[in-house]
Amino acid sequence: MPENDSATSVETIDTLVVGGGQAGIAMSEHLGRCGVPHLVLERDRIAERWRSGRWDSLVANGPAWHDRFPGMKFSGIGADEFAPKEAVADYFVAYAKMIAAPIRCGVEVTRVRRRAGRPGFRVDTSAGPIEAETLVAATGPFQRPLIPPIIPEDAALLQLHSSGYRNPGQLPAGAVLVVGAGSSGVQIADELMRAGRQVYLSVGPHDRPPRAYRGRDFVWWLGMLGKWDAVAATPGTEHVTIAVSGAHGGQTVDFKRLAAQGMTLLGLTQSCRDGVLGFAPDLAKNIARGDANYLSVLDEADAWAERYGLDLPEDPAARELEPDPACVTDPVLELNLADAGVTSIVWATGFATDYSWLQVDAFDERGRPRHQRGISTEPGVYFLGLPWLSHRGSSFIWGVWHDAAFIADHIATQRGYRAYRPAAQATPNHADDSNDAD
Ligand SMILES: Cc1cc2nc3c(=O)[nH]c(=O)nc-3n(C[C@H](O)[C@H](O)[C@H](O)COP(=O)(O)OP(=O)(O)OC[C@H]3O[C@@H](n4cnc5c(N)ncnc54)[C@H](O)[C@@H]3O)c2cc1C
Repeated sequence: MPENDSATSVETIDTLVVGGGQAGIAMSEHLGRCGVPHLVLERDRIAERWRSGRWDSLVANGPAWHDRFPGMKFSGIGADEFAPKEAVADYFVAYAKMIAAPIRCGVEVTRVRRRAGRPGFRVDTSAGPIEAETLVAATGPFQRPLIPPIIPEDAALLQLHSSGYRNPGQLPAGAVLVVGAGSSGVQIADELMRAGRQVYLSVGPHDRPPRAYRGRDFVWWLGMLGKWDAVAATPGTEHVTIAVSGAHGGQTVDFKRLAAQGMTLLGLTQSCRDGVLGFAPDLAKNIARGDANYLSVLDEADAWAERYGLDLPEDPAARELEPDPACVTDPVLELNLADAGVTSIVWATGFATDYSWLQVDAFDERGRPRHQRGISTEPGVYFLGLPWLSHRGSSFIWGVWHDAAFIADHIATQRGYRAYRPAAQATPNHADDSNDAD
């Protein structure tokens, strides 16, 4: 709903970027390139989520040569190493400094409304109002932790979301159930098992690409095979998570190996009655699906190497898969939490977005942003950093940089339209300047 203009003077800026994570910084770089005056507002610190929103031992899922912006390499980290999370945050702080990004930290955007009767937005912030012609929502894809309502909140055990997990010492003594086997869940479960905990891991449908094959990391293979460029998930795979890890130097996620080391794998967590959890009978199917995905990447890589005559070392050992462990062939369908000694549950079950502060007509009936490649249906509003915004890479470090370039170009183009005046209306001495947006 448009706000009512007040007569009081407020700070104005052409383009306001909300969020100073990697998306906001990429946006600032490209807006600067396009000569668009802008301001980035970050409620905490630059790249805060990499500092305080993730567990202590997290390293980047992709190697340092890949998971970065084109304009700067990581310092002090080898190209094929996986940057620790603090180093990732430091990288973005250094990057913001390098490009002299106009970022104001410690300022939260609390509400955005369209201005009444003219383009642009009235933005309420914790430091006072701002008016902007254009607004970029770069608040990240992972804003609100999601925990399915399966176990009552007052159950006598610790329940926390993966975004609240820090390290094994945080959990009470006893066994742990980790629900969700994407990159977060499987890494947390592995860390807990290495710390000597009895671990149960609830595994849903997943892809688990090889960490490396024939001497090349999978991020390289996905690039060469054109898979990063996919514009949408294959129909039917929207809820298939991806299990990859850069931990311990980078190893392929292998659920059967984890089971052989003592982890108990379970199917999808479905129900809870009187302290007994029920699991779907889908574990063998999910594991087989993950294996098939793994092998399909090897097949595509081999075909590609052959087609283009690539001289890469053969890697037959990569095709040797572990046998199904007992927990897969004879799955546990019910688990009495007390009998199993489970004292905590880590829900690695994903996130939702929260755009309650963005009170404009840019969302569908389910609250999802309506946009095309980040350009909202509400003129002047842009979204950045969301999964599949334009392609598979959109929510990742390197991918968001390219999306930001596209959006900045669009913003600059729209400024040109706004600034345009027919030659007849331009002042005679400056007729040639009539199409310029300053
Ligand atoms: C566990 C985990 C590991 C990941 N590992 C990798 C990896 O290895 N490689 C990779 O490429 N990607 C990885 N990702 C994906 C992605 O790179 C990160 O999620 C990244 O943090 C997203 O950056 P962003 O800038 O889009 O959002 P965020 O990092 O979430 O930044 C958004 C910023 O907006 C601020 N903000 C939010 N609301 C407001 C408001 N109203 N006013 C002002 N500021 C606001 C927040 O404080 C935050 O700093 C990982 C994600 C997770 C969850």
